[in-house]
Amino acid sequence: MQDQIWLSSPHMGGNEQKYVNEAFDANWVAPLGPNVDGFEKDLEAFLNEDVKVAALSAGTAALHLALIECNVKYGDEVICQSMTFSASANPIAYCGATPIFIDSEKDTWNMCPIALEEAVKERISKSKKPKAIIVVHLYGMPAKMDEIIEIAEKYQIPVIEDAAEALGSTYKGKFCGTFGRFGILSFNGNKIITTSGGGALVCHNQKDKDKAVFLSTQARDNAPHYQHSHIGYNYRMSNIVAGIGRGQMEVLENRVETRRKMHDFYMRVFNDIEGVEVFSEPSEDYFSNHWLSAIVIDKNITGKNREDLRLAFLANNIESRPLWKPMHLQPVFADAPYYGTNVAEKLFDNGLCLPSGSNLSNNDRERIEKKIKDFFS
Ligand SMILES: *Cc1c(COP(=O)(O)O)cnc(C)c1O
Repeated sequence: MQDQIWLSSPHMGGNEQKYVNEAFDANWVAPLGPNVDGFEKDLEAFLNEDVKVAALSAGTAALHLALIECNVKYGDEVICQSMTFSASANPIAYCGATPIFIDSEKDTWNMCPIALEEAVKERISKSKKPKAIIVVHLYGMPAKMDEIIEIAEKYQIPVIEDAAEALGSTYKGKFCGTFGRFGILSFNGNKIITTSGGGALVCHNQKDKDKAVFLSTQARDNAPHYQHSHIGYNYRMSNIVAGIGRGQMEVLENRVETRRKMHDFYMRVFNDIEGVEVFSEPSEDYFSNHWLSAIVIDKNITGKNREDLRLAFLANNIESRPLWKPMHLQPVFADAPYYGTNVAEKLFDNGLCLPSGSNLSNNDRERIEKKIKDFFS
């Protein structure tokens, strides 16, 4: 059996252990310390927009705190992109609120502004003005932020950007995660950089960040004993994990470059294969980190579907994966309202994510290319 080729696996830069060792040497083995502060500073410097970042235990935790800071309560409604990972929507349920799912548009596969406005209008007409809009930058591709922000401002609804997959992506030169009232990042094992597990909340003022840190450390009031007037959470990032993050920040730009080269590779491989489209930026306004490269297969032209290709890869120990199954089609969210025209559903039926890691070798790429050429010939 040939070596496993993963979709996206951790890729250490080299200095991660140095920061972890520093934490051990100074006995900062706790959910606070110099690495947590340093990692936050590194992210703030990278995002370059006068933002304040809170390092947390997961991207999901960051979304939960963003919703709490947007004052989402039991019985409220929150708008969410349907085509995404379940972690975008689960925190809505943690708050006892109802997700309102929005279809994708074809250019970026992200939230369709037309369906968004239709949903906002209809919910308002039912006296259920949404408390927040969660927009996702899928696979690193920036969403249509001008249109989405315009609608959000028109109806005065805060935007939460799920940039878990899009660290390093920009829209009109501005980093994903810095457009909304809040942005969230993830450093899970499969993301473009990883801390093994972790996340961050991107805020635009110190007060919002302080509140996130307060809530993430069990909401302790200022008193010598343990005094609480709010429900708190244990969501702060560990100083060990943050050390990995500091090492990863040193190679982030390189990782973006390398993932983008994987996209170029697939553009070349599929160039002469009719009926397959490689997911690409619709215009110069969009700069994707190409966290995952993905394709859409036209069954009518190729005579093959994405599941055939997935199984052909699998037989060769190459991992690939269908696109995210839209949330409005998930059994757990069967009762949630949905607005759209089934664009996301068609993408799910025909799309496949391909090996995209920054640590793939030339030999790996040769194996992938050969498999693709054999499959479509
Ligand atoms: C990974 C991911 C998350 C969740 O991040 P965790 O750090 O794993 O909690 C949220 N949204 C999207 C779109 C993701 O891909």
